[in-house]
Amino acid sequence: MVTKIVAFASLLTFSTIVCSQAQANPIATLNGAFQSMRATSQPPASIGRTNKLSVKNAESMPEEVSSSGSAFAGHRIDKVIRQLNTILQCPNRIWPGLKKDSYRVLFVQPSTKESWFWTAVSGKAESISESEFTASPKSPEYSFGQFRNERAVIINLERVSERSRIPSLNVDGAVSLAFHESFHYLFQMKEPWNAQLISADRKSDLDHVSAVYFRRMLIRALKADLFRGDGFGHSSYWFQKWEALGESPETKFSDILEGTANYAEIIASVIADKGCQVTEEELLHTAISSLDSAAGIPMDAAVMKQLFAQYKATGYQIEGYEIGLLSLLAMRMRGNSIGSNEFPMGRDFASEIQSASTHAEKMKVMNDLQEALAKVRTPAEILLRSVAPTLDQEDFGLLESIRKASIGH
Ligand SMILES: [Zn+2]
Repeated sequence: MVTKIVAFASLLTFSTIVCSQAQANPIATLNGAFQSMRATSQPPASIGRTNKLSVKNAESMPEEVSSSGSAFAGHRIDKVIRQLNTILQCPNRIWPGLKKDSYRVLFVQPSTKESWFWTAVSGKAESISESEFTASPKSPEYSFGQFRNERAVIINLERVSERSRIPSLNVDGAVSLAFHESFHYLFQMKEPWNAQLISADRKSDLDHVSAVYFRRMLIRALKADLFRGDGFGHSSYWFQKWEALGESPETKFSDILEGTANYAEIIASVIADKGCQVTEEELLHTAISSLDSAAGIPMDAAVMKQLFAQYKATGYQIEGYEIGLLSLLAMRMRGNSIGSNEFPMGRDFASEIQSASTHAEKMKVMNDLQEALAKVRTPAEILLRSVAPTLDQEDFGLLESIRKASIGH
């Protein structure tokens, strides 16, 4: 069995290390105050620029300098903080059981050496002196680390567009990104969220082309079923076909980790714009209107090729963002707002592995983790497990485009 650890799952930016190197994460110390732990590789530049689906879901936005010059930074940070505070006035509307007090974000503007530290507890943006922290000009859009001896997410305002990630909303892109990454790094840190420690025993003979095809058809069916509102038979059809392939655990956890974070980000973004007083009907209507049309958007061939290569190498599928999001929205439409009841917090496997002193102890924890994660149900499983499948039409054009993307990988 090949056991490996995948760094915290973020879209297209994860690294793989073996179990025995669990403590050797890339940690850079800045000013002795902030330790930035970040996955190693950047997404290919073309992803996010050329494909609408990727842009909408991308956590690592294209390297785009904010249109706000430093003279306006004060205004921008005020709006960002105001919107984050709005979101965290009603955390249970986003994710029942969300622990908002853990939210700590350091917003940086390297060109002016300015930084602001916000916590959900204080609700304020504290200006940080240069001597305590100065961001590197190479600071990425976001990173994870420690500030004042506690976990914090760092957001580089100069790399994250002010533009809303959901066009119909007036939400700073930094707010949505800060919420999404904080959801991962400050909330999803224990079982069942320890997907950064996925231990995979991958099937060597998996039909990867069919796996991607079934999952893209599942996305399309979920959207169509969601808009039509008369059941999820077609979705169940594609889900069952995909499940029968015996896909790897990484894919399951992209549905769980990224699907939930994508959903929480979209609900939070609606609340950031419309406030906690927004009715459930308007909230859902706005969230669902933000989705692409039920027909689905054809994916650029070059992007598809890169995504396929990544999936083949790691098992991590971009489709998890949308499958999780759509399944959670569907359940919410039925009045079932998924949260900590369905995904209760368990053991802190990451810390247990870090503190284990021998390789054997680490592997024992890894095995416990693997067993625990195998029992976690994905949002799509929760939605579709008991839904009878209805035969759906094939899309041979899509299948062919995936086949082409797989050539050479
Ligand atoms: Zn994410």
